[in-house]
Amino acid sequence: MSVAVRRYLQDVGRGLIDLVFPASCLYCRDAVDLDYHPALCRDCLSELQPAADQFAEQHIRSRLNDSCLDQLLVAFHFNEVVRALIHAVKYRHMPKLAIKTGKIAISRAAWELSSQSLLVPVPLHPKRQRERGYNQSELIATGISSYSGLPLCCNLLQRSRYTNSQTRLNRRERQLNIANAFILPAKVKKNVAGKDIVLVDDVMTTGTTLNECAAVLKMAGAASVRGIALAAPIRDGEDVSPRADDFLLF
Ligand SMILES: [Zn+2]
Repeated sequence: MSVAVRRYLQDVGRGLIDLVFPASCLYCRDAVDLDYHPALCRDCLSELQPAADQFAEQHIRSRLNDSCLDQLLVAFHFNEVVRALIHAVKYRHMPKLAIKTGKIAISRAAWELSSQSLLVPVPLHPKRQRERGYNQSELIATGISSYSGLPLCCNLLQRSRYTNSQTRLNRRERQLNIANAFILPAKVKKNVAGKDIVLVDDVMTTGTTLNECAAVLKMAGAASVRGIALAAPIRDGEDVSPRADDFLLF
């Protein structure tokens, strides 16, 4: 059975389940008010609080070796509801939820994004995108674009090789795993020169993936590169790497 057929049957199955069982919150299982959110109850929705302005700067960018990123921003203060939401966006084949989450992120964050900025999602390798059925970062960026009006460009960066999952790797292993994993095709380099780029990812842990993307874009002449993500699995006050169980989820 092809991946596309399997995805279609999964969508049909999920639709039938939604008909029989009313929508319930993906975190606490309470009833969902569909006028507010398709997958979170109102209490859990209120748990999506903006992260502190300097959070990613202090905890992640300051610890990068040779940072090519001009700024790092995360949308949500990390907690268990945010963890469940990102997990659903990434692994439960809920593309509409990814777009909705991007809209909520940009509507609640106090980001000062230039109207000239170009949104560029972190790409998946085509093989992984076929397996998952979509690139969650592209859908999050679609939500950010539809709310903010910023242009979205998905054909710039490409993954040049299929990297192993980073979930069980430490900082050093992540750097080696992701090194030289991204390329910018020669024919699109002119679209990057002089541009202010905003890279979009689902979650940032050590920042190495966003930094690798930024290095490629800077080499092609990007004026500035910022990285944004829904959340970073680091608790306030913890000046340490994310917990092992956070890596397992992401
Ligand atoms: Zn709930």
